[in-house]
Amino acid sequence: MSLVVAKFGGTSVADYAAMNRCADIVLNNPATRVVVVSASSGVTNLLVELAQANVTETQRLALLKKIAQIQYSIVDCLARPDDVTAAIDRLLSRVDVLSQQFQADPNKATADELLSLGEQCSSQLFAAVIRERGVVSSAFDVRQVMRTDSLFGRAEPQIGELKSLATEKLLPLLASQLIVTQGFIGADAEGRTTTLGRGGSDYSAALLAEALDADAVEIWTDVPGIFTTDPRLAPNATAIPEISFNEAAEMATFGAKVLHPATILPAVRQQIQVFVGSSKAPELGGTWIRHQVENPPVYRAVALRRDQTLLNLHSLQMLHAQGFLAQTFATLAKHKISVDLITTSEVNVSLTLDKTGSDSSGQGLLTEALLQELSQHCRVRVEDKLALVAIIGNRIATTAGICQQVFSVLAPHNVRMICQGASPHNLCVLVHESEAADVVAALHRNLFEQ
Ligand code: ADP
Ligand code: ASP
Ligand code: MG
Repeated sequence: MSLVVAKFGGTSVADYAAMNRCADIVLNNPATRVVVVSASSGVTNLLVELAQANVTETQRLALLKKIAQIQYSIVDCLARPDDVTAAIDRLLSRVDVLSQQFQADPNKATADELLSLGEQCSSQLFAAVIRERGVVSSAFDVRQVMRTDSLFGRAEPQIGELKSLATEKLLPLLASQLIVTQGFIGADAEGRTTTLGRGGSDYSAALLAEALDADAVEIWTDVPGIFTTDPRLAPNATAIPEISFNEAAEMATFGAKVLHPATILPAVRQQIQVFVGSSKAPELGGTWIRHQVENPPVYRAVALRRDQTLLNLHSLQMLHAQGFLAQTFATLAKHKISVDLITTSEVNVSLTLDKTGSDSSGQGLLTEALLQELSQHCRVRVEDKLALVAIIGNRIATTAGICQQVFSVLAPHNVRMICQGASPHNLCVLVHESEAADVVAALHRNLFEQ
């Protein structure tokens, strides 16, 4: 029997009406046995605010109230609210206790436990909505199977353990009920709650699909598929009916928020097809991400990743010497930082930091300790307020005329850095944050709307 894992993002489970639209989608396909939910829209942001140091008691209480309002507005619509009231009350009192604990002793472990409560609430509520439709369903605590390391805020799933735990504890349940579970969260070997980084629910769904040998993962969101660029940036962007794993992975990596960057990895490993569609308008169809597609175009999409940091390293030691990059990368690896783009000159190296794995509580990657360590072997200059624009496609490095076309569009803008050639799938430019939206719109007009 085929098995589908369906994931619903924050806006898709924002309120009772939205949850019911998702229930229609789930119940329309008998192969859907596992549902992965995000926290209801806005809840994780409120939890992130609670997980900041120096929140005053008045602010804390106001945040708790807002979170409770979102959850109770759903409970109050249920035909049998008693079904979940006790569970939601218990979770909200955990928010209260943990947010107090965090103010007394701010640490990442407490922050992660706090952040996990949004998904814990929404999964209880969604399972209740499904039960209301007369279908046997329960909220399954994903921490029983989603084993991660202990890097709170951006924990790494342990694929082997996840697979054996899911086979033992989750798979047997699917024959008798529809399982609703949490995206974004996991637990380390000691049972401590961890999170996978913001937007991580897509990744959770793909990981669970891999662990359960599912046939497809569906990512239900607020847009009917993956578009040629973020439709918020270019009103004429269009949905892409079919896209390859490679192209989709590049898009996600370079900022197309519709998919968490790591989502494609499990799908590729297991050759699982991924569908992206709108829970508000499932009839519009969406995008299928497959291993291979016919006639992939040269230009597929434009992606934008804001909030980029450029590190400029200068050292005379680099001149005709060896080992400088090895030393730099060793330092970055020690601080668990993955390098993104890189360009070099005689005595300079410029690199951008990959924030895609950045912390769930929004903390930057660049720490004082890292800067100090780098400064021991070179002069470090940090530039921010930059944005990375990536043109995603195929045969980019081997097709003549691409640079001319792209650079003529970029003529009025200052380009801080260019990367092209390493991958056949992208050409990236770093521009000032304030120009980014214009650059994306202009590229989209010229490459996709002619
Ligand atoms: P969810 O809460 O369902 O995970 P997200 O907000 O994380 O939803 O992702 C959906 C959003 O991604 C869309 O509303 C859209 O603005 C943005 N987005 C960015 N790039 C793209 C793209 N290329 N195609 C579609 N949506 C995109
Ligand atoms: N709720 C988490 C977030 O807002 C995870 C997700 O929605 O994917 O980042
Ligand atoms: Mg998302």
